[in-house]
Order: sequence, then structure tokens, then C-alpha cells
Amino acid sequence: MASTHTLEENLTAAEQHLARFAAEPLHHLINGELVPSVSGETFTNESPIDGSHLGDVSAGDAADIDAAAIAAAEAFGVWSTMPGTERKAILHRVADLIEENAHRIAVTECVDTGQTMRFMSAAALRGAANFRFFADRAPAASDGQSLPDAHHINYTSRKAIGPVGVITPWNTPFMLSTWKIAPALAAGCTVVHKPAEWSPYTAHLLAEIALEAGLPAGVLNVVHGLGETAGKSLTEHEAIKAIAFVGESSTGSMIQAQGAPTLKRVHFELGGKNPVIVFDDANIERALDAAVFMIYSLNGERCTSSSRVLVQESIYDDFVQRLAEKMKGVPVGHPLDPSSVIGPLIHPRHYEKVCSFKDIATADGATVVEGASWDDAPEGGNWVSPMLFTGARNDMRVAQEEIFGPALTAIPFTDEADAIKIANDVEYGLAGYLWTSDVGRALRVSDALEAGMVWVNSQNVRHLPTPFGGTKRSGIGRDGGDWSFDFYMETKNVSVALDTHTIPKLGT
Ligand code: NAD
Repeated sequence: MASTHTLEENLTAAEQHLARFAAEPLHHLINGELVPSVSGETFTNESPIDGSHLGDVSAGDAADIDAAAIAAAEAFGVWSTMPGTERKAILHRVADLIEENAHRIAVTECVDTGQTMRFMSAAALRGAANFRFFADRAPAASDGQSLPDAHHINYTSRKAIGPVGVITPWNTPFMLSTWKIAPALAAGCTVVHKPAEWSPYTAHLLAEIALEAGLPAGVLNVVHGLGETAGKSLTEHEAIKAIAFVGESSTGSMIQAQGAPTLKRVHFELGGKNPVIVFDDANIERALDAAVFMIYSLNGERCTSSSRVLVQESIYDDFVQRLAEKMKGVPVGHPLDPSSVIGPLIHPRHYEKVCSFKDIATADGATVVEGASWDDAPEGGNWVSPMLFTGARNDMRVAQEEIFGPALTAIPFTDEADAIKIANDVEYGLAGYLWTSDVGRALRVSDALEAGMVWVNSQNVRHLPTPFGGTKRSGIGRDGGDWSFDFYMETKNVSVALDTHTIPKLGT
């Protein structure tokens, strides 16, 4: 749903909602209390819009993680044994309050991340939808199956695994946090959340809202800090039984190693270099709009973005020319302006990385086409124009590496086999998109794509009961529907004899 607020209204709201973060450091929320770091250390949070200082944030380390893990472990007994219907009621209240606060959340997210209001207003509401979806499933989360054989009745049941750690990135932090935290809470787990250091604010708003909704103290704790300190300690803590992580593939590898001594269960949603394959029999108008949407929305900072467009050579020149025209019409502007599509990138380091791909593309022999810029962009912000790399080959860095910005690489292909070969020739395997009017081809290509999710003749449209996740270096495990509960719960099988089976007699 598009935001109904004007830029002026959003700016006024931002001033009002962000003032608290500038006035005093944002502390951790542990056991229902705001607490500074044991060390007293803080880090600074800067605006992607103009580089100004938004506020200081407590920098957690092992001591703060330990306090949060203890709080989560103590709260686990009450929360995990509470009837599912009661958990459902509390989680619906969280969803109600997210909806009531949706504008505050969206404004805060825009200023903290540079993502535009156009998408963040919908993302806040999607956060509420995530809570409602899993709240409704809380009462039946522990249900199992009946698997009888001739001589035994077998039945399964599920129990929450224990306190869990949730580690999230900065691209759409509020929505992603709810996507991981809502099923954990619905399952009966308690949570220690370590949000990304570049976007700490809406994690705090979520925890505050949850407390207001009646979530008992200690059930959802937030510890801020850097990945190498707070994040690492969370993955190593003995009391934390599982880590749900969303972020870069290389960080996933580190987390797997860090969690090995305590045998952590891990769930990883990692990077992507997702293809959108356009065959010459496709509905070109729809394919163009979807390709533009899937790379230039959310600043291109989206794990499921279609960052490689593979176009059949018979239509390549025409398609790419029209793509470039559409890309040039994508507006860059203030993230709080409801008409902006692209805002500033999250951080100067990320900005430099994304922009470096212009030189990399040129050096590798591709052509760089740039879109609009914003003439009135404030100084000191991380402002970029959308980019299109044409004439690329799949072995170029712009085709292999996750840029995680508004940058699309266009590659021609000859036929179905060539399209599949190029699509799969990357180390990632998160999502794939394909456009064709041939049903048989759609089914064959969907089957051959090395990806956890495929959309045929569609952009990414999420249906929450369906599985979400990736293959190869894009992830381990699936979220969504019952898959989320499988991760956050232990399954037990009970086998009851009918006293009719033979028991071997050993000896006399
Ligand atoms: P990142 O891996 O740098 O950081 C993610 C989180 O991990 C942060 O909270 C960070 O502090 C923490 N972290 C860093 N080092 C750690 C360590 N050693 N131990 C524990 N925690 C540590 O990722 P990012 O740059 O914040 O996010 C962008 C990445 O996220 C992209 O690769 C993107 O594709 C991916 N992503 C994936 C999905 C998905 O569903 N597959 C969704 C969104 C984003």
C-alpha cells in the first residue's frame, strides 16, 4: 500500500520520532529493561541521507549477550509452556500495535537505512502480517503425526528448541526481524536479537511494541553491537540452541564455524545473484516491468533481486534498449518523499562497493548505462543512480558477484540450454525468474534452475505458507509456513507397543 503522507508530513514525523535516538544513547533491551553495555562502550549511527549523526548506540559484547541469554533462558519455561492460544493472542496484539505504529516504523526505517517510503510503508505492514500469520499457527505448532505400524502406535510431537539467537542485516531490517522473530515466538522459543549495526532503530521499536503488547519480560531481548563482538558471542553462547541468520554468505560460514563447538542448529538466508530469464515468446511488457521492479526497488538491496537479466539474443537489443529507457525514468530522491523509488545507500562503505562496480564493469568490457540522479541531493549522503551493465558475459565480475545495489547486468543467450547453463553458472542459488508463454519450457527450466525459489511470469510475490530459502551459497534451510516451526522446534517420536510384537530372547 502506498504511503498517503506527503514529504513535509514525513519530515515532521521523522524529526519527532528520531529525536529520542539523538537525545540519549540507545541501550540494549534485556529482560524488559533498557540497559547500557557492561563495558559502557557505544558506537555511532549515521544518516545515509547526509552523513549526519543520528545518535549513539550501546555496543554490546560477550557480557551483554550473556545477560540477554540468561534472561531468555529464564523466560523460556513460562513462555514455552504457555498455551498456544495465549501466545496467539499476545502475538496478534503485537501485530495490532505494529499496524498502529506503521508510519512511525516506516519513517524511522527510511531515515536509518535510506530505503524509500514507497517500500518501507508496505514493509512495516508486512511485519504485522508476519506476526498474524504465525500467531494463527501457534496453537497447532506442537501437533505431530500418527505413524502406526503393525505392532506399534507411533506419534510425533514438537516442542520449542529453547532460547534462540536471531541475527539480521540492514536492508529491510524491520520486516526481516519480524519474519524471523514471529515464528520463533509462536513456536514457544525465547529470543536474543542482534540487529545490524548500520540499522539499529526499528529492532528496538519492535521489542518495545512487543513488551507493550504483553510479551513477558525476557522473551524478546535486543543486544546491539558489531558482528565480530556481539554477533559472535551470541553464536557461541551455550544457552542459545539455534541461530537464525540473514546476511552475507561469508558471514554465514563464520557463524557455522563459531557455532560448531556448541553444536548450534543454524538457519541461513544468504546472498544471491538471481537470474531473470526472458525468452523471445514472453509477454515483453510485463517482463520489462518486473525486471525493472526486481532490481530498482528497495535500492537493489534485496536478496531476491533479479540482478542478472538473461535475454534471448533475438530480442536482446530491443529489450535492453527499452530496459535502459525505463531505468532512466526511475526517480532518485529523498527516502521520505513518497514519489522516490531509489534513496541513498545505507553506508559510505556499501556506497563505495556498489559504485566500484562501474569501473569493474568497464575494465571487464561491459558498457555502463546510468539512470537519473537527484540534483538537490543533500551533501554527505550515499546517493547513487540506477545502473545497467550491457554487453556483459557471465564470467565478468558484475555477473558473478552480489553487488546489492541498483545495478543490473544484461547478458544474451541463444536457446533454452544456454539460458539454463548461464543461470546456474554462479555460486549462489536463491531465486530465479523466467518469462515465456511456452508451458512445457516453463516447467523444464523451473526444474533445471539451481534455486530455492522460482517465479514463472512474475516478480517476487510472497505467499507466506510457501517455503523461502536458497541453495548453494544462498542458504541452509527454509522459512515460511510449517518450515519455520521445524527449525525452531524439536520433533519427538513416541512408539507405543500393542504388546503383539516379538521381543528377541537372548540367552535363557
Ligand atoms: P552481514 O553478513 O555483513 O551482516 C548481517 C548480520 O550479521 C549483522 O547483524 C552483523 O552484525 C552480523 N555479523 C557480522 N559478522 C558476524 C559474526 N562473525 N558472527 C555473528 N554475526 C555477525 O550482511 P549485511 O551486509 O548486513 O546484509 C547484506 C547481505 O544479506 C546480503 O548478502 C544479502 O543478500 C543478505 N540477505 C539475504 C536474505 C535472504 O533471505 N537470503 C535477505 C536479506 C539479506
